[in-house]
Amino acid sequence: MLTTLTVRTGSQTEFIDITFQVAEAVRGSGVTEGLCHLFVPHTTAAVTINENADPTVRADILMVLNKIISDREAYRHLEGNSPAHIKASLVGPDLTVIITGGRLLLGTWQGIFFCEFDGPRTRKVHIKIREG
Ligand code: ZN
Repeated sequence: MLTTLTVRTGSQTEFIDITFQVAEAVRGSGVTEGLCHLFVPHTTAAVTINENADPTVRADILMVLNKIISDREAYRHLEGNSPAHIKASLVGPDLTVIITGGRLLLGTWQGIFFCEFDGPRTRKVHIKIREG
């Protein structure tokens, strides 16, 4: 089963918690044991799993990414958004989460984040849920 989420981002760089929407897609699929694959079809956005209990964690991750991937390099890409492309490659376009008992097998403090690096935009996340 393929589901596509629409994510509307509001900042140039931002982490948006999509755990609930992904869990809803799993619930709607009826799959109780299997795998949930996420794929972001964009070159300046990504997905990651990290702490969703304390929002300062995602703020710190973004702060350091923005610091280590400078806007002031002699980038050749004329669109002017090379830092966003680099961040997207470092974080990655996909994730797989185990489904068991009809739920995502995430750790207590883990959440799934859509990572915007060149917003604000309207984005997509493809979700493929497989039984097995
Ligand atoms: Zn570009």
